[in-house]
Amino acid sequence: MALTWIRTHDWDADAWRNRSLCRDSNADLFFPIGSTGHALDQIDAAKDVCAVCPVKSECLEFALATNQEAGIWGGTTEEERRKVRKDWLTKQRRAG
Ligand code: SF4
Repeated sequence: MALTWIRTHDWDADAWRNRSLCRDSNADLFFPIGSTGHALDQIDAAKDVCAVCPVKSECLEFALATNQEAGIWGGTTEEERRKVRKDWLTKQRRAG
C-alpha cells in the first residue's frame, strides 16, 4: 500500500517508539474506555505522561497520518485529533 501522506518530521517510523515514555506505562491509561468517570482520570494521567514525552510530536504526527481513531496519542484524545486532523491534512496538501 502506498503512503499518501507527507512526513513533516524527519523520523523513522519505528525509531521514535523506542524513545516513548509510554513503552513502560500501563497501556490501559492510553486506551481508556469512554470519556467519562474513571476514563477521565486515565486520560489525564496519560496526558501527564505525554506532556514530558520526548517524542510527542512524532507520536501525534504518526497518529494523524495513520488516522489512529482510538487512544491517547501525542497528548490528544480521539475527539481532539478529529478536530485538528482537518487542519493537519490541509497543511500536508499545501506542503506537498
Ligand atoms: S506522546 Fe504519549 S502516547 Fe505518544 S509516545 Fe509519548 S507517551 Fe506515548
